[in-house]
Amino acid sequence: MNIALSQSGLSRSAILHEPFDIDAVRAQFPGLARQINGKPLVYLDSANTAQKFASAIAASNHYYQAGSANVFRAVHTLGEEATAAFEAARDEVKRLINAPDRAEIIFTRGTTEALNLLAYSYGSLLKPGDAILLTEMEHHANIVPWQMLAQRSGVKIKVLPITDAGELDLSQLDALLTAEVKLFCFTHVSNVLGTINPVQQLCEIARARGILSVIDGSQAAPHLQVDVQAIDCDFYAFTGHKVYGPTGVGVLWGKRSHLEAMPPFLGGGDMIDVVSFSGSSFAELPNKFEAGTPNIAGVIGLGAAIVSLRSLSLAAVSAREHQLANYAEQALLQVHGLRLMGSTGNRAPVFSFTMDGLHPHDIATLLDQRGIAIRSGQHCAHPLMARMGVSASARASLAFYNTEAEVDALVEGLHAVRKLLT
Ligand code: PMP
Repeated sequence: MNIALSQSGLSRSAILHEPFDIDAVRAQFPGLARQINGKPLVYLDSANTAQKFASAIAASNHYYQAGSANVFRAVHTLGEEATAAFEAARDEVKRLINAPDRAEIIFTRGTTEALNLLAYSYGSLLKPGDAILLTEMEHHANIVPWQMLAQRSGVKIKVLPITDAGELDLSQLDALLTAEVKLFCFTHVSNVLGTINPVQQLCEIARARGILSVIDGSQAAPHLQVDVQAIDCDFYAFTGHKVYGPTGVGVLWGKRSHLEAMPPFLGGGDMIDVVSFSGSSFAELPNKFEAGTPNIAGVIGLGAAIVSLRSLSLAAVSAREHQLANYAEQALLQVHGLRLMGSTGNRAPVFSFTMDGLHPHDIATLLDQRGIAIRSGQHCAHPLMARMGVSASARASLAFYNTEAEVDALVEGLHAVRKLLT
């Protein structure tokens, strides 16, 4: 693809070769072909939800169109087809995160439900006085379920601060990982700052103290090669709609011994072994945590999205995004009056920023008129925004399907917004 060089002053030598055919990649995402307000869509809101692979849309549609059936219950052909497709998706998830055992993959509605499941279920094994360590850069999904647990059980919440650069303040970790701490819950990648946390190191430090690690992988799974065995975490959660698959589906992975020790979260059909009015016994993993009819079309679509993502190669995706992130960072820093939040040297392609005298919602609204989609607001991370001293920010988040030309369009749009509003 011919990459348009920008007015941001980057030379062609600053741009590495394309690791894959970007036109062919973009053609796999029908959403990218939209025109918005008469302009080609420039989609820079993938951290919010990503565009969907055509393969994922087709797989979900196929489930409905080829005759839907429930999973695990019916012996007829449609039932067996649905169950086979559902379980094939579980194998794809296993491969994606290199889980050792397919029974450790629990399908949920998303990261939010995965973390609520954990807080409810693992939380019931904790005692008053036990503590959970969170970090200041968590999404509300990795804060509120633990607060709700604290309110009902007397478990305490502690918080690892971040530095001005937007990185975890590891100098405080030792003092915070005291004997009462049973779980250390942290995000792999910040949805606001893009900071990639040293998850392997964090897990190792926790493990040395007998503390379990819980990783919110929502913003990592779309961009990085996640290997739960190499990371050696205890739990890992992510959501389907950010890995270019459907909404309403996500994953909780946990080590088998922990999942076996945990009580069920939701009760109902499919998660039981035997039910009588004197009591019920529960199914084996993973069914114990998958009560009721699941989001079958969503799970099947997620499986297809993962196949497509793997066929591009996560390594190539990561390399391409790294290149794009460097380009975007340099380009944004040249916009007059723009302040990037965080200055980490290890960033996923997520950029939150403020512009002197401009409200983030105005920036996002005016960019939309040019066909450019970014997010504005507090990004479900109130404590982080308070720590960084901003009430709201604009956020441009990229994926491997974006181009340098789209970054240029954003920069041009920001110049125009500034001109109009100041
Ligand atoms: N954690 C992080 C870091 C996220 O970015 C998000 C999505 N914004 C979530 C959790 C929640 O994901 P979902 O809404 O899909 O459950």
